[in-house]
Amino acid sequence: MHLKDSKTVVIKIGSSLLIDDNKIIREKWLSEFAKDIKNLQNLKKNLIIVSSGAIALGCKKLKLNKKNLKLDKSQAVASIGQIELMNLFKKVFSPKKINLSQILLTLEDTEQRRRAINAKRTFENLFSLGFVPIVNENDSIATSEIKYGDNDRLASRVAQISNADCLILLSDVNGVYSKDPKLDKKAELIREVKNIDNKIEIIATRSIGEHGTGGMKTKIDAAKICQLSGCHMAIANGLINRPIKNILKNDLCTWFLPKVSKLDARKKWIISSISPKGQLIIDAGALMALKSGKSLLAAGIKEVKGKFSKGDHIRILDEDLVEFARGLSSFTSDEISKIKGIHSNKISNLLGYISKSEVIHKDDMVKVE
Ligand code: GLU
Repeated sequence: MHLKDSKTVVIKIGSSLLIDDNKIIREKWLSEFAKDIKNLQNLKKNLIIVSSGAIALGCKKLKLNKKNLKLDKSQAVASIGQIELMNLFKKVFSPKKINLSQILLTLEDTEQRRRAINAKRTFENLFSLGFVPIVNENDSIATSEIKYGDNDRLASRVAQISNADCLILLSDVNGVYSKDPKLDKKAELIREVKNIDNKIEIIATRSIGEHGTGGMKTKIDAAKICQLSGCHMAIANGLINRPIKNILKNDLCTWFLPKVSKLDARKKWIISSISPKGQLIIDAGALMALKSGKSLLAAGIKEVKGKFSKGDHIRILDEDLVEFARGLSSFTSDEISKIKGIHSNKISNLLGYISKSEVIHKDDMVKVE
């Protein structure tokens, strides 16, 4: 059971689950959904909710019709609607003692490695504080060229950068059917998809009945991203009460299985970047620490070569200049020159600002085999 086995879970809810066709807020549904979230928290899972609804709630407040909105106006509407959205979540989730935070992302935040790493750390810190981040696209800033445009793909990127084990797209359909269930009684729910072949693509593009921005097409795009990130993804019906409980109990949804392991996907993501920008030469003590799976600290660095920025891909060499690993640097080369050989608790004094102590975090490092 994919959800049960997952530690980090991303759940995406579309606007149509929060606000109905008559523009009435589905507060009762949200309150049932909050019970689902509480239950997952009790199961000790790390949770992220990706929620649409900023534009829909902004339109409701301003009494506007979503269909006639121009982009520049929709940005203002999203800005107005986003706090409506968060107020709604807060109102419903607070009585259940679920602590919430908000993260608004733009496309570059997940596409640029350095920003993606920052976002990942923020998610991790929120998990350890016991807060559930609610993510949406930063619609007030994003214009069409730099937009995800739909929260399905945004959610799959969030799942990728947060290293999630599963993503659940709550929709207004049960999942992907072999034929259109509205037209054909023989239509069957496809329970598991290993390969997104032509057949699935055709079914998906034909599918109707989804009101969100994306429809089934963007859900399939999201599934492709998940498959290559080692993340399980489900399309499930969110319209029912307690949709997550329903997945845990009946598993009545379509699961897309990953094509690679999570570890392999992350390694590939780290290694796949353009050629390394620099090198760090480390001492024997640091080498031992890295061999036992620890992060690289400034104290163990003897020398830095090359010019690089935060998030750049660099090589880690031992004292004999043999390459041991590659990783993403949390500091610039200039900063490392200042802090090399220095104990972590002196770093902020030297740099003049507080920063993390790992120069390359163990999660951002891949040993060269
Ligand atoms: N980010 C948009 C909003 O909050 C929704 C995008 C979508 O429906 O996928 O209104």
